[in-house]
Amino acid sequence: MPELPEATTISSQLSKFITNSKLIEIIIKKDSIIKNKELLKNIINQKCEEVNNYGKMVYFKFQNHWIVFHLALTGYLVINPKEELLNNTIVEFNFDKNKVIFGAKRMFEKMIVYESYPFSKYGPDFRSLKPLDFIKILTKTNKPIKVALMDQNLIAGIGNIYACESLFDAKILPTRNTRNITVQEYHKLFNSLHNIIKLAIEKRGSTISDYIDAFGNKGEFQNYHKIYGKKFCPECSKKVSTIKIQDRITYFCSNCQK
Ligand SMILES: [Zn+2]
Repeated sequence: MPELPEATTISSQLSKFITNSKLIEIIIKKDSIIKNKELLKNIINQKCEEVNNYGKMVYFKFQNHWIVFHLALTGYLVINPKEELLNNTIVEFNFDKNKVIFGAKRMFEKMIVYESYPFSKYGPDFRSLKPLDFIKILTKTNKPIKVALMDQNLIAGIGNIYACESLFDAKILPTRNTRNITVQEYHKLFNSLHNIIKLAIEKRGSTISDYIDAFGNKGEFQNYHKIYGKKFCPECSKKVSTIKIQDRITYFCSNCQK
């Protein structure tokens, strides 16, 4: 499932091809997961001013409109795709020189068109945070740290994989309450997230099942996971524990994480 590193990979790859190019045509193949599609007609023949991501969401910005993609589990955005990627097309965007396909195998994904800034309801994108902002946001809450990290209304961009990996790296149990984590531990967690996300972007994200980048390639960061999906702890060799937190399987080491 795309999180910040995957969304950043996709948006930065697309940006080089799409920014400042004119959107000529939009072909809708399946409209059930598109919201506000009546607004799309206003965007035809406009220049795409920006391709970027806010947390996990990739967006195209036009003069007065935003198209926001929630890629959920199986969604993808690919540029000038090969034939085999066309089977699950939801929308085809024909820009003056390039074609972008939004596709999804299932129907949890969403494409939403907005007439005003769409991200005010979310917390800040993790990349914009300084350590003290991060600590301030989390210590105001009163819940398990993993739940707080994944709450997009607090901080945008962190999902299951990067929450598990960063908590393991910072040696903090995912069930610890946000109020009982020390300032020193928060600094460590911030650095873990920062470094893991940076490396994950360099490796074009993690492909566990369906994720592909904007060129249709799998990411490589799954080869660098230390705890997510693992059977044994790479530090102490004990069996990795799993629990469900908000319905997501959470991996941790009960020996190394306190
Ligand atoms: Zn361990």
